[in-house]
Amino acid sequence: MNLNFDHVTLGQRVLFGSGRAADSLADEVARLGARRVMVVASRSEARVAQAVTTHIDVAVFHDDVAPHVPIAKAESARAVAVDKAVDLLVCVGGGSTTGLAKAVALATGLPIVAVPTTYAGSEATNVWGLTEAARKTTGVDDRVLPVTVIYDAHLTLSLPVELSVASGLNGMAHCIDSMWAPRTDPINRALAAEGIRALAEGLPAIKGDPQDVSGREQTLYGAYLSAVAFASAGSGLHHKICHVLGGAYNLPHAQTHATVLPYVLAFNAPAAHEAERRIAAAFGTGTAVAGLSSLRATLDAPRALKDYGFDETQIPEAVELILPVVPDSNPRPVTATDLEALLRAAHAGETPVL
Ligand code: NAD
Repeated sequence: MNLNFDHVTLGQRVLFGSGRAADSLADEVARLGARRVMVVASRSEARVAQAVTTHIDVAVFHDDVAPHVPIAKAESARAVAVDKAVDLLVCVGGGSTTGLAKAVALATGLPIVAVPTTYAGSEATNVWGLTEAARKTTGVDDRVLPVTVIYDAHLTLSLPVELSVASGLNGMAHCIDSMWAPRTDPINRALAAEGIRALAEGLPAIKGDPQDVSGREQTLYGAYLSAVAFASAGSGLHHKICHVLGGAYNLPHAQTHATVLPYVLAFNAPAAHEAERRIAAAFGTGTAVAGLSSLRATLDAPRALKDYGFDETQIPEAVELILPVVPDSNPRPVTATDLEALLRAAHAGETPVL
């Protein structure tokens, strides 16, 4: 096969090590010469944030975080940053918390050091999101890419198994969708394949024992790779579907991704031989669909959109919203009938058919 592609690698320091977060953060604050640090963490993440920031001076803790970054929350966080003359943002938490720090960085240009505690992966992308009047807008801006990410698997030990599974499968969706997304290339496909392998190893270990640090490490490593692959490859069919469902019907992010993924894989796999082969190899199974299906069975993964607030009557409208945003790069043409069948099966939690 001829190699002919344009690839951009985003510049970011990644400090990975269990039990190292507080020391690594102190080193980064010193290296960046920051004197006025704003720590963003939701109330449920406050305990972890306190522990991680023990070795630094904090100008302000900000805990007014909500899912999908409502514009009012972004504006009040921006006002706090200006009012307190902040020179560095530190976010400690899941994708919602990272998203709020990104919204502040977008407006102020302040650097971010991210300390993730879920497997969402936002910390490794230059993608921001804001919600206004129930409409989610996303964009790409290098100012929101954290300058440093500090990964410490100990910080994820408190993430309940159910949320860990959904969040880890959100990472899996980044990997699988990267295989056919608009800017897919050999580099991001290699990262995605290693991400699939790591997540397929780490998630069952967490399911078996939520306090298994090596399972948490593998999953965090896989989540990072998945986000780098996604940031590079862009949004494929899966992400377009989930973006519409999340935005229009306020469905929970990680669970929506976890539920929809097997249907998109089953739909695309027969038309994407190279992707199919690589995904299957990463799972170590005969086919990609079998690999994902067996992992999902082990994990008792989220199964049906009806369990997360999606109503059957919303399917026709969802089809209309998704159809115009289907990427041209998709390996298989997508009709309204295809989308309707996919959403009906995902709504009910039926076994995906090839
Ligand atoms: P989340 O950040 O809303 O976290 C889910 C819940 O887990 C929250 O209640 C949170 O307080 C709790 N939590 C987080 N860490 C915990 C821990 N260690 N222990 C116990 N509880 C913990 O959900 P998420 O799935 O991490 O992120 C979803 C958001 O991230 C969505 O808004 C999505 O759009 C965004 N996202 C953005 C990108 C991007 O590139 N911009 C990528 C992925 C996700």
